[in-house]
Amino acid sequence: MKIIIAGGGIGGLTAALCLIRAGHTVIVLEQAEELREVGAGLQISPNSARVFAALGILKDLQAVAFKPQALEMRLGQTGRTIFSLPIGPRQEARWCAPYLHIHRAHLLGVLAARLMLLDPDALKVAARVTAIDTSGQGVKVTLGSGAVHEGDVLIGADGIHSVVRTHMLGPDRARFTGNVAWRAVVPVDRLGRHAPPPTACVWVGPGRHAVTYRLDGGRLANFVGVVETDVEPDESWRARGTRAQALTHFACFAVPVRSLIEQADDLFLWALRDRAPLACWHDGPVALLGDAAHPMLPFLAQGASMAIEDAWVLAGCLKQASDASGLARYEAIRKPRATRVQAASADNMAVFHRRSRLAQIATYGPAWVAGRIAPGVLRGMQDWIYTHDVLADVAPY
Ligand SMILES: Cc1cc2nc3c(=O)[nH]c(=O)nc-3n(C[C@H](O)[C@H](O)[C@H](O)COP(=O)(O)OP(=O)(O)OC[C@H]3O[C@@H](n4cnc5c(N)ncnc54)[C@H](O)[C@@H]3O)c2cc1C
Repeated sequence: MKIIIAGGGIGGLTAALCLIRAGHTVIVLEQAEELREVGAGLQISPNSARVFAALGILKDLQAVAFKPQALEMRLGQTGRTIFSLPIGPRQEARWCAPYLHIHRAHLLGVLAARLMLLDPDALKVAARVTAIDTSGQGVKVTLGSGAVHEGDVLIGADGIHSVVRTHMLGPDRARFTGNVAWRAVVPVDRLGRHAPPPTACVWVGPGRHAVTYRLDGGRLANFVGVVETDVEPDESWRARGTRAQALTHFACFAVPVRSLIEQADDLFLWALRDRAPLACWHDGPVALLGDAAHPMLPFLAQGASMAIEDAWVLAGCLKQASDASGLARYEAIRKPRATRVQAASADNMAVFHRRSRLAQIATYGPAWVAGRIAPGVLRGMQDWIYTHDVLADVAPY
């Protein structure tokens, strides 16, 4: 089939690689003039790293990524460790894939390079999808320039404000979750002895939390700081905040978190939005993938990983069906898991943001004990996410 993908983000490009592998012709329509991502990191957990291994690009990613030494939770205010679960060869063997931290631009670069190699004509930039017509055979997509593309199937991988979603389900504004996120990437050598640990670390605190990890072979430190607020910032993904504002939000946090803010050249700030689970992900020859289908709070670091899992399953379903009927199977396989991850991500807000001393002790005390005497219990709680074998959800292709 000829498959049109709206959106050349992580989900769209991974879908393109999977669909080409499954024998289809793809065209990716990306609105930006060039492929770009926010200057920030991304955690690629083993459940989605499996897809990259199957696509043959894991080595390229590992060359520019960082492998965290542990999954940790700390008290934001004192820096005291609640638990630290080491990640080593045993965990990798258990998960059948590595846990990676990668700069978003590096990930997009690897995905785009592989796509160019497979089909130099597959990616069109400065190609904003503005209209969709499914009244005839297949689907007709019109761009802002007036150009028209025709295909058998359209995949909306165009993010939280998806025009493909709007075409399918009508206009509906994404919901402000009452959280804003700060983001920065800082060279580690600027941070001296206050550099964050070489782990995936969540720093929990009252009404806020921070996440720190390393990128680029350990040379860069990534900072995400989330704060609850009633004030909704504007829509832009590239809005800059001020250092003073960020420091106010994290004034009560330990030095490694404050140092990241103090040493950052740029501090980006934006609203975290999501949507309730959609009624459906497909309609005729059109289907949604990634944030277009299931935007979620980033509190399990699974948004991109779910898009990557979607991509593998979508292509597997469209390999087996010779027409768009595979889209129903794709939705049936993916929706329960993505919806569960969406809900679990939202639940983590309360876990990370405990306000009273009593609530903190009741939540973090048992986790502290389990981390010391029964770490297997904590690992077991993550298994449904990390050990999931998405490759086995569809027939091999
Ligand atoms: C603070 C924060 C931290 C996060 N951390 C993690 C993490 O550690 N791990 C993880 O897995 N996930 C994480 N996520 C979630 C992750 O960033 C998203 O889930 C992921 O980027 C979704 O990918 P996507 O391809 O579906 O959508 P997007 O990344 O939004 O890509 C959509 C693409 O479509 C293009 N587009 C939009 N409209 C059109 C149009 N009309 N025509 C053509 N092109 C269009 C856009 O330009 C864009 O390139 C985090 C999110 C946030 C906010």
